Amino acid sequence: MKRIISVSALSLLAIASVAAQENVKKYPEPEKMRPGMSEFWTPQPKIVTPGDIATNSAPSDAIVLFDGTNLDAWKNPQTGGPAEWNVHDGVMTVDKSKGDIETKDNFDSFQLHLEWMVPENITGSGQLRGNSGVYLQGMYEVQILDCFENETYVNGMTGSIYKQKAPTANVMRKPGEWNVYDIIYTSPVFNEDGTYKTHPKVTVIQNGCVIVNDFDIQGTTEYIGFPRVEKHGAGPILLQSHGDPSEPISFRNIWLRPL
Ligand code: MG
Repeated sequence: MKRIISVSALSLLAIASVAAQENVKKYPEPEKMRPGMSEFWTPQPKIVTPGDIATNSAPSDAIVLFDGTNLDAWKNPQTGGPAEWNVHDGVMTVDKSKGDIETKDNFDSFQLHLEWMVPENITGSGQLRGNSGVYLQGMYEVQILDCFENETYVNGMTGSIYKQKAPTANVMRKPGEWNVYDIIYTSPVFNEDGTYKTHPKVTVIQNGCVIVNDFDIQGTTEYIGFPRVEKHGAGPILLQSHGDPSEPISFRNIWLRPL
């Protein structure tokens, strides 16, 4: 008798368990992950032919700012007239009597390539030795200076963001040899009140070495005093004609890719 009761109790439990399972709501199982689910095919990046390594030419989508033949892409920022530096032998050399030059076109964010050479017979010391500079959007100077065995304040040396950020290395080639700058620049975004919402950012690569990495530019380049924040839009590339008495430097192979 006792055994019959036990069996009946087990049967009731089994029935109750099945009923409970039937009441559990069922949802679809997540689809099994396949490789293709995390692969994107569009949009395909544009095809760009890279520069030729032997001739050091610009990539096919670059805006060529100086190819060694003329200064058509440049102007005198003071007069608005033609840029009047000396073009010879595939290079342009600063004419200090003519002042700075800047591009006719304005740019937002970009990648800029330029090559520059301090003459072999350079004289002077500190800031008075092969001083020039490249101003991003006409506002922010990446210093150019002969810092080969020539010391100066570090936030004013070659590759510095002038008076704001020292480079992390001195990778100068000696006078008479070409130095290469590749500069990656992100233009700033401004708040209504003219302050930065996001700072301008810059990375400087000299002769293949990153010497300034994604730096937040603090404001305008000032010789005396501290940077100021000035609201602006797209701007030119400006090359500095520095007033020091040392022999002028030369540039070649300048191109830019808007980003
Ligand atoms: Mg300078």
